[in-house]
Amino acid sequence: MLATCPFCPLRCDDLVVRAEGTHLVPHEVDCPRAHAGFAGVAAESARLSSLAAWRTASVLAESIADRVAGAASLRISGTIIDITTARAAVRLAAACGGVVDAAESVSSAAMRRAIEREGVVAATLAELSQRADSVVLLGDPSDECPRLVERFLAPSPAPPARVGERARRRFLSLGESRIAGLPGERYTHIEVARGDLHRLLAEARGALRVGKTDSSGIATWLADATYSGWLWSSEALDPLAAGTLVGLSTELNRERRAVLVSLASDTTLRSVSTWLSGFSGPVDFGSGAPQLLENSTPAELTLWLQPYPTAPPPPLEDTFLIVLGMADAELAERADVYLPAGVPGVDFASSTYRGDAAVCLPLHALLDRGLPSAAEVLGELQLRRTDRC
Ligand code: SF4
Repeated sequence: MLATCPFCPLRCDDLVVRAEGTHLVPHEVDCPRAHAGFAGVAAESARLSSLAAWRTASVLAESIADRVAGAASLRISGTIIDITTARAAVRLAAACGGVVDAAESVSSAAMRRAIEREGVVAATLAELSQRADSVVLLGDPSDECPRLVERFLAPSPAPPARVGERARRRFLSLGESRIAGLPGERYTHIEVARGDLHRLLAEARGALRVGKTDSSGIATWLADATYSGWLWSSEALDPLAAGTLVGLSTELNRERRAVLVSLASDTTLRSVSTWLSGFSGPVDFGSGAPQLLENSTPAELTLWLQPYPTAPPPPLEDTFLIVLGMADAELAERADVYLPAGVPGVDFASSTYRGDAAVCLPLHALLDRGLPSAAEVLGELQLRRTDRC
């Protein structure tokens, strides 16, 4: 079966997956994250079938609906990767006067705030792949998106690529370790501790502005770039580094082109939230009308979307925690209530946005394990909430 992989923001849509019982095995794909993702889904199958029956007990469903309806404050958060679930989450938050708030990585939150303040020249992965003569990687984004180099950065030309640029492309990485798979002769790595990134980027920006060199050599490297594309890992950017990166890209764009390419895991929810509320999020419906939430605080009740076991778990907070989706045994144990639901792109079909927000891709149903979708459960909670009003 041809599948779109749901396990990282790259959303590779060229996977061939074979069903072996309740196991799905990707073939001829060298991606540890995809293999771990499908293996994690299979590992939960037996446990989930008994829990699914448990969930449908009407007494339990009633008590959860009461809990959601009666909460003084509700926060819907977590990893939401498909459009159907995102729609249902925004609608339930609106119906309950709650907050819908994607689980953001450190870098995503910092970049969102920096871009809100200053704007940015952004681009898609395809544009970077076709046009950039220089690529700068902050941290190691290929750790989270293992096929990033193979699919978008490596020098093997594929029509209609502008072969010249791609074949001569240079790479610079700033972080704690080298990135595998980049061509050695055109790849420079500068070892930088995460806390130092802001300082080095600021120094490079200052040096470029006055046409001088900097101690790290970053400005010198950038001075030779006609078109640079920037990517970062989920932990690479703190607020200072994000702000400096946006400023540096503005400086570079005075005489050349520099683009920032986001690989965020919350792109689908942000898109749907924008359509339905006018805000890309986080959105607070507490006043009756949607408003941008400035500061997130723990709610009395948190409804956490966990689409697959390897997705990031919720933070430890003083809240009544309902986990909806597919949790591993540890998270299922930690939750006050665990509502099993199928995995988008495995148990049910939907659509999803790639991390750069440029492409909407189909997610296919690959297995039938009799699990409800998260959207069905959210819709059920919304109906029961409406019944009580
Ligand atoms: S890179 Fe990401 S989307 Fe692609 S196969 Fe690996 S985990 Fe899946």
